[in-house]
Amino acid sequence: MYFVGNSLGPLSKRSQELLNEELDVWATIGVTGHFDHPMGRDWMTLASKATKLLAPIVGAKEAEIAVMGTLTANLHLMMSSFYKPTKERYKILCEIKPFPSDEYAFASQAALHGFDPSTAVVHLEPRANENTLRTSDILDAIREHSSSLALVLFSGVQYYSGQYFAMPEITRAAHDAGALCGWDLAHAVGNVPLSLHDWDVDFAVWCTYKYLNSGPGGIGGLFVHEKWHKEKGVQYAGWWGHDEATRFQMPPVFQPIPGAQGFQQSNPSILNIASLLGSLEVFSRVHPTDPMSVIRAKSIRATAYLETLLRSTRFFVGPHDAEKVLKGQVLTGADKAMKGAFTIITPRAKPERGAQLSLLFSEEVMPNVFSEMVKRGVIGDERHPGIIRFAPAPLYCSFEDVSKCVATLVDVLNSL
Ligand SMILES: *Cc1c(COP(=O)(O)O)cnc(C)c1O
Repeated sequence: MYFVGNSLGPLSKRSQELLNEELDVWATIGVTGHFDHPMGRDWMTLASKATKLLAPIVGAKEAEIAVMGTLTANLHLMMSSFYKPTKERYKILCEIKPFPSDEYAFASQAALHGFDPSTAVVHLEPRANENTLRTSDILDAIREHSSSLALVLFSGVQYYSGQYFAMPEITRAAHDAGALCGWDLAHAVGNVPLSLHDWDVDFAVWCTYKYLNSGPGGIGGLFVHEKWHKEKGVQYAGWWGHDEATRFQMPPVFQPIPGAQGFQQSNPSILNIASLLGSLEVFSRVHPTDPMSVIRAKSIRATAYLETLLRSTRFFVGPHDAEKVLKGQVLTGADKAMKGAFTIITPRAKPERGAQLSLLFSEEVMPNVFSEMVKRGVIGDERHPGIIRFAPAPLYCSFEDVSKCVATLVDVLNSL
């Protein structure tokens, strides 16, 4: 039972098929595969097939997205064009404890421009005894910092808490404050429906190996809103961003493809694109133009089912007691520590979460609970100090899987 598609999605049959075919093509015709591919998938333009299927998943025009690179490298690339701090406006606003790679990227970008990361990068913390941020507090913070704010950059869905931020409202508030708004969609793409163009997002980056099931270290992606295509030039040019019509004439002067694809640098890994393409074909079979609405509808039900079952166990305690849970201080009636006590730190409101629920245990028992679950065939993942994450990704997790997951957890907790 695989509940860890938020970390690495499983291999689809179609991806395996495409990968094997590309290996065969490489083995038999070598370099010719670039221009004269026996299955009509010329490597030269293979990324555009993925772009086409990805556009409805992120809610963008094809010219606004590029299938390229990897998330963190793409984040730096986007910040090189969109983070232009001045003495007055230099702050980057993000959530407390963003994914470490983002944290490092923000700090290094601030330092690169001569700012002290400890004042330039502003982290928003939840209120006391709360585990996630209130949207109204985020919007207030944007207003409060408005005179010095350069960039608002949150994750769409937070990797640790599972909170799905109010993307349109936050984007609008950033613009009202005179700042730009970018998003890290690592945990959002393929998980929740996105409308990056309509929400007026300035830029976004993502990886594809989580809910998009492209395989370990798969190719990443980025979004640049159409409104910026003329103004925001490519700062780190490479030959793959050059106009396709003349790319192979190898001219000395760079002429970018208009839009997001001008940001491409290197010729991309075809094996990575093939495996992404296989998975995107699965998404497009769910629905050719709007797969995410269908997927989200099941996702909401599957995650609500998981939550309902978890909350009905005798080990569940309310999220305001998270601190006690983590320290192992939840007591049974007999004043004994209830070892298996857990809470859920992910928001209860359905619009505020995706597929994932983050369960918090005492830091002492969590590793044991996690390894016992794995032994019994239920794969989630652990995030220290006390979190085990379960994400019933709707493409392949059934309601029966969900019920077995909770039954297994109760078994494990009873045995502590
Ligand atoms: C998974 C994840 C990453 C990973 O970055 P890579 O460059 O793909 O290794 C970065 N940020 C967030 C928020 C993530 O969830």
